[in-house]
Amino acid sequence: MLFKEIEGNKGIKNQLISSVLNNRVSHSQLFLGGKGSAKLAIAIAFAQFINCTTKNENDSCGNCDSCVKYNSLTHPDLYLIFPVLTINGIKKPISDNFIFQWREEILKNPYWNLHDWFNVFSEDNKTGKNGLIYTHEAENLQSKLALKHYESEYRVVIMWMPENMQAKTSNKLLKLLEEPPNKTIFLLVSENSEQLLSTVLSRLQITKITNFSDENIKNYILKQNNISSKKANTLISYSEGDLGKALRLLEEEDLYDSHFEEFQSWMRICYSANIKELTNWTAQRAKKGRQSQSVFLNYSLKMIRNCLILNFSTQETLNLDEKENDFLRKFHPFIHEKNIVNISEKIEECSRNIERNANTKIIFYELSLQMMKLLKVNRKFVEIK
Ligand SMILES: [Zn+2]
Repeated sequence: MLFKEIEGNKGIKNQLISSVLNNRVSHSQLFLGGKGSAKLAIAIAFAQFINCTTKNENDSCGNCDSCVKYNSLTHPDLYLIFPVLTINGIKKPISDNFIFQWREEILKNPYWNLHDWFNVFSEDNKTGKNGLIYTHEAENLQSKLALKHYESEYRVVIMWMPENMQAKTSNKLLKLLEEPPNKTIFLLVSENSEQLLSTVLSRLQITKITNFSDENIKNYILKQNNISSKKANTLISYSEGDLGKALRLLEEEDLYDSHFEEFQSWMRICYSANIKELTNWTAQRAKKGRQSQSVFLNYSLKMIRNCLILNFSTQETLNLDEKENDFLRKFHPFIHEKNIVNISEKIEECSRNIERNANTKIIFYELSLQMMKLLKVNRKFVEIK
């Protein structure tokens, strides 16, 4: 990974580059950033830059022996540590057991999150348990670091999501950070530093990475993919600064379908309380992928909120196409201050349950029954009461 492949973050990249060029690299660092930010990509590009043998003053060369191995994340002096699952009969799992899958996924999308990683094993992990960085991982690392370097001047340990360490692992890591082996650099990459032991945290130099801007995401998507600017804008509207999410959505073919017709018929079915039609509708909806469910719910939430805006002013210009505009101008009186909070909460709850792999058909059915009730809440009647 080269620095130039990472959008934005100019100040941070310059700061890291100059720390290497001026020989002032701290041996224990933490890259802290939200979901889908550049934190892991930056840690990898930094490690590659440290060891590039023909670096220039802005970036790694990308072609030297060290860079070639870094490009595939297979450098023998690069240690990759991440949460792992107790699956497939492995009693004491460590990152090395899962390294091939991890590398493959990271090279495709270095902006992903822990949920994406565990999803790779959804077939083997039917109970949906979460992974950890176990104590035996730290023991394994300790014994590896006791050996000599293979070929580069600096060894780099990249630990992704250290907040998922067992307490005993943290204590062992702390010992390594207190007495670091010669020319070994620890780069921790985290989303939540509050879950790290304060003793570990106090040993780390912290670099905070902000979320990508919409412009960053658009640039990245358009450089890597042959899609129209309009499609890129659709992706951005669902991504909320999370590049990993944008890359996942890119694979969803029905993302670009208009969700309008489906939303319109859903609202009609809910309002007419037609249970037979509802059963057909939920069955059709449940056939679609999980990501599509989230996108549809997100779209519905936006439409519902637009109704409320129209309640206050019908003159308001909203970012809607003609069909959406026509429908919402008729539908908006049914969404008002007496039901908007409940409706929004129900949709958001449904989104969270979908992410937790709950049964889509049941979730949409229950949500629709709630919607039937909530759409009947009469604004004026409630006010008189
Ligand atoms: Zn190089």
